[in-house]
Amino acid sequence: MSRTLPNIIITGTPGTGKTSHSELLAERTGLKHLSINDVVKEKECHEGWDDEYQSWIVDEDKLLDAIEDEVKQGGYIIDWHACDLFPKSWIDLVVVLRVDTATLYDRLTERKYPEVKLQENMDAEIMEVLLQEAKEAYDEEIVVELQSTTADEMESNVDRIVQWFEQWKNNNAQ
Ligand code: ADP
Ligand code: MN
Repeated sequence: MSRTLPNIIITGTPGTGKTSHSELLAERTGLKHLSINDVVKEKECHEGWDDEYQSWIVDEDKLLDAIEDEVKQGGYIIDWHACDLFPKSWIDLVVVLRVDTATLYDRLTERKYPEVKLQENMDAEIMEVLLQEAKEAYDEEIVVELQSTTADEMESNVDRIVQWFEQWKNNNAQ
């Protein structure tokens, strides 16, 4: 299966900057920002609401069914805090955003996360859960870890991904 445009996953612990990066990248590349949070809500790919965690309990099969036809064509930036459910064949680049733990604490506190969710996400960032998940699910050469603590870092991350995108298009031009 060949795509004329690549699919990029932007993943990381909640609060690392996935949505901010995805929006900037979409503007710069014309790729479509696919917020999995929004898909889960709009297409009801869930088994209800978890009150303790204040989040949807995602039905992954339903989610994949909901996005498969579109995503397989290429041209998407997939924005979500998990990555290993997306089939390898769909994905060309996996960006794992990382952040300084004190900064993450501030960002999640500002979001008024319930204590249990705040703690779980802090632990996940410290333990590099998303990075490990990405490395296990995809070939190492398509997984990139980028720091997202400062605005300068965000800018240089976006520049780097845009460069990757241009290169991908050159390599895959007919
Ligand atoms: P996510 O989608 O991963 O939960 P967001 O993109 O919503 O993260 O970012 C969470 C908050 O942190 C937002 O207020 C955003 O402006 C800020 N932020 C994210 N990345 C950076 C960064 N690299 N530098 C400064 N602020 C950032
Ligand atoms: Mn987000």
